[in-house]
Amino acid sequence: MTHSQPSIAQVFAAQHDTVAARRTTFDYTARRAALDQLRTMVLAHEQAVCEAIGADFGKHPDEVRLTEILPLLLEIGHTRRHLRKWMRPSRAPSGLVFLGTTTQVHLTPKGTALVIAPWNFPFFLALGPAVSALAAGCSVILKPSELTPATSALLKRIVSETFAPELFTVVEGGVDAATELLTLPFGHIFFTGSPEVGQIVMTAAAKTFASVTLELGGKSPVIVGPDADIANAARWIAWGRCINGGQTCVAPDHVYVHESVKAAFADALSAQITKMYGADPMQSPDLAQMAYPRQWARVAGLIDDSKAKGATVLTGGDMDQAARKIAPTILLDVHDDMGVQQEEIFGPVLPVMTYRDLDQVIDKINDGSHPLALYVFESNAFADEVIIKTTSGTVGVNMSVMGASHPTAPFGGVGRSGNGGAHGYAGFAAFSHMRQVLRARFFPFHIVFPPYTGLTRRLIAV
Ligand code: NAD
Repeated sequence: MTHSQPSIAQVFAAQHDTVAARRTTFDYTARRAALDQLRTMVLAHEQAVCEAIGADFGKHPDEVRLTEILPLLLEIGHTRRHLRKWMRPSRAPSGLVFLGTTTQVHLTPKGTALVIAPWNFPFFLALGPAVSALAAGCSVILKPSELTPATSALLKRIVSETFAPELFTVVEGGVDAATELLTLPFGHIFFTGSPEVGQIVMTAAAKTFASVTLELGGKSPVIVGPDADIANAARWIAWGRCINGGQTCVAPDHVYVHESVKAAFADALSAQITKMYGADPMQSPDLAQMAYPRQWARVAGLIDDSKAKGATVLTGGDMDQAARKIAPTILLDVHDDMGVQQEEIFGPVLPVMTYRDLDQVIDKINDGSHPLALYVFESNAFADEVIIKTTSGTVGVNMSVMGASHPTAPFGGVGRSGNGGAHGYAGFAAFSHMRQVLRARFFPFHIVFPPYTGLTRRLIAV
């Protein structure tokens, strides 16, 4: 006997029909149990996750554990530990005007949540938002990326083996599935992906009044100051640029290095790449592939375009279309009319430019759209000056990339790099409505009711 798959509308209806019942049954104990089930699921399938992501784009199992499994377990652990406190209603002070009332703020679930995930961290960025949604008491429909099919199929299988579809289910598919899902009246949509698709998601959400978290991308600049610890800077920047094959939303995208340390920095960067990926990085099992052919062609095209317009290749430049690999490539003599300076690079390619006057770099950063991440390698005083004069989703000082998996601090962009926060309490709050509950005990200010006597002047004065 064959069972036909439920339609997207049926999957949504199954979750939506249980919203009312979940209000009373999906309490602290049940939510904590759901988080425990998720943790057990992740641990039980760790090997399968490594294999699936390896099949999708050749990522080393250690890198899968480091960037997909460990951050997810940290997220679950932190949420699990603090959930009771987060769920507890908080008191809002009354002040004189609201004398005689008590006010509480209840964090109530927004209902049915949609998570649309990208391909670049296809496990962590799919399940991380689901941790926050379940903790907040929402049900979840997750749509993984169609461009990492092995991970998508694995997610579908293990989530359906672990959770009732009324609580958490996976809908596989590409643009068509996402488009159909976006017509449905979700309580909250958590989207991770490109700014262009983020706009489509936000437009669709306007029609259903869903709230949205947008985790988008962009070009994340790096400043290496004159007194930076060059060896440390080179190590974090080389790693941040090359991990995940360079396909990381918070990867250092381009570097402004002070002219006095450019030569030392360039040497150190090349040395770090050799140390991490060997003399022939194309053979390194530690360097992930470009995730799909069009992505390889786009990144390869950026290198070709830069070379044709006069950039110098300091290190790397090797590309293999069949293997979908690109060697870590450092570009010098880069100009703003080159593609690498106009779009998010999202591959293991790093333009390095020099600067003399920090204010000019700051102006450049402020002229563009707000980056998702901004990195500064220098003293704290130097970094503080950059921080106060710029806006970005996140800042890394003397380190890179790690902030994206921090379980306790909010992570997210601003403006074109996104809105709203992920992880920890920020993630929990995104899927929750802050409901004001105002109770009258006695309310002495009867002057609020007509007929008016002019006494409101007294209220203004308090
Ligand atoms: P993408 O926007 O192409 O796709 C993301 C998801 O949206 C996929 O599930 C895809 O199926 C779906 N989608 C694609 N087109 C759609 C459409 N027209 N309507 C509705 N849904 C659609 O992004 P991507 O290529 O998977 O990811 C790369 C981008 O994501 C980069 O810009 C990167 O910086 C960004 N990113 C951001 C974060 C973050 O946390 N801020 C994390 C990872 C990636």
